[in-house]
Amino acid sequence: MPPLPNAVTAAELQTLSSRAISAKEAAYCPYSKFRVGACIITDAGEYIVGANVENAAYPVGTCAERVAFATAIVAGHKDFKAIAVATDIKPGASPCGMCRQYMREFTTPSFPIYMYDGEGNYTVKTMSEVNPPPSESPRFYDTDVFAN
Ligand SMILES: [Zn+2]
Repeated sequence: MPPLPNAVTAAELQTLSSRAISAKEAAYCPYSKFRVGACIITDAGEYIVGANVENAAYPVGTCAERVAFATAIVAGHKDFKAIAVATDIKPGASPCGMCRQYMREFTTPSFPIYMYDGEGNYTVKTMSEVNPPPSESPRFYDTDVFAN
């Protein structure tokens, strides 16, 4: 497999993962007890972290990925190389649908998402793998779906 256009170096991935994992400590999750940490690396090599921030009114809470991206955008960053998302479960969790759409706004199809489990192992998928365009969904234009 050719290297991803957004490929990070081994050293960058080490930093990305350790910061995402330690960002779990900042999670505010008294309701779910499900800690999530995230870390983005920008094209310029800066690291921006986020953690989930829950709310008594469930939909008001924010996921770690969106906290990290919002922080980065507000700080003026526009180009991103990769994100790491860390949870305490095994295998590591994939971003929720809201975060996939949110990240899509600011990333390319080849943008890698490194998903770390509670033991520090990861799987990686690209943005296009976790959030393919609707036109790539085989069911999207299948009118038979609605006929049945
Ligand atoms: Zn999410």
